[in-house]
Amino acid sequence: MLDQLSEIEKSALEALQSVQDEAALEAWRVAHVGRSSPLMTIFGELGQLSKEERPVIGQAANRVKLALESAFAEKSDAIRTASLAKSLEEDALDVTLPGRTIHHGRLHPSTQQLRRVLSILADMGFQVYTSREVETDEMNFQLLNFPPHHPAREMQDSFYVEAGERGENPILLRTHTSPGQIHAMREFAAMNPENPPSIRLALPGMCFRYEQITARSEIQFNQVEGLVVGENITFADLKGTLADFARRMFGQSARTLFRASYFPFTEPSAEMDVECFVCGGKGCAVCKNSGWLEILGCGMVHPVVLRNGGYDPTRYSGYAWGMGPERQLMLRYRIEDIRYFLGNDMRFLEQF
Ligand SMILES: [Zn+2]
Repeated sequence: MLDQLSEIEKSALEALQSVQDEAALEAWRVAHVGRSSPLMTIFGELGQLSKEERPVIGQAANRVKLALESAFAEKSDAIRTASLAKSLEEDALDVTLPGRTIHHGRLHPSTQQLRRVLSILADMGFQVYTSREVETDEMNFQLLNFPPHHPAREMQDSFYVEAGERGENPILLRTHTSPGQIHAMREFAAMNPENPPSIRLALPGMCFRYEQITARSEIQFNQVEGLVVGENITFADLKGTLADFARRMFGQSARTLFRASYFPFTEPSAEMDVECFVCGGKGCAVCKNSGWLEILGCGMVHPVVLRNGGYDPTRYSGYAWGMGPERQLMLRYRIEDIRYFLGNDMRFLEQF
C-alpha cells in the first residue's frame, strides 16, 4: 500500500506538470484529490487495516494528500499570474492615444442671462417670486389698470386659452410678468392686512404674445420684472436702483438715461436706456448712431394697482420695471435675430 501511495503521488505530480489553465486544473483536482480519487479510496480503506498497519499507512496517506494540495495551490497561483499577465498584454492601454471627447450639456443662453440678472438683483436684496404662466384676463390686464377695450391692450396681443362662457374674464397665456405683481402684493398684504409688509421682489419668467414672428419679435420670451413697495418710495429710489443695476450688469462706467413713456400700470412711466457698450456712446450700428440702447420699461406703481394688490396708495408707494434677458443678450453679443433663441440650432447654442 505504501508503494501504491508513492505511485499515486508520482503520477499526480506528473499529470500536474502538463496542466496549463483553470479548467484543466479543476479536472486534475477532481481526478487526484477528489472524493473518488485513488488517494481518497485509500483513506476509505484504512478501517480494514490491522492495528499496526493503520497509523503507518494513515500518516503516509496524509503526507501525500498535503503534498498534492500544496502542489495544487502553487499551480493555481501560477496559472492566475500567467492569465493576468496575458490579459494585461492583450488589453494593453495606450495612454498616448487621445481620449474620446465627452459632450457636455450646458445651460441655454437665456437661462444663463436670467441667472446673471437674478444674481445681481439678489445681491441688491431682491427676493425671487415666481408666478403662473396661465392667467385670467382680470390678473393679466384688468387689475393692472387695463380695463376691457383699453387701447393699451393693442400692445400685447394675446393667446386666449378659453373664452366662451367666461365673458370678460377669459383665460390666456400671460403677456408679461406683471400679473405676478398682483399675486405677490395680495400674498404679502394677506400676512398683515392692517399693516402690509414692504416688498422687494424680482419676478422672472416666460411670457407669450400673439405676434408675427420676425427677427425682432417672438411669440415667447423671458421677462424679469422688479417690484418694490413700501412707505416713502420715490422715483429717486427707482432711478438709483436701476442705475446701480446697470453698472453691475454692464460695467462700472455704464451711464443711464430715462425717457418719459406710458404704461397703464405705472404713473409716471419711463424707458431706461444704457449708454451703448459697443461704441461707448459715440454712435454705431447697434445703437443706430444714437449712443444709447433701450434696456427696460419702468415707472411708479399706479395707485389703482397698489389698491388692487391690497396696499393703500395714500400710505404706500412703489416702483416696478420689466426687462428682457434675450434683448440684453442680443445687444451684448450683437445677435441680429431673436428667433435663434428658440430655433434649437446647435451651431448657435454652442457659442454660449
Ligand atoms: Zn453704439
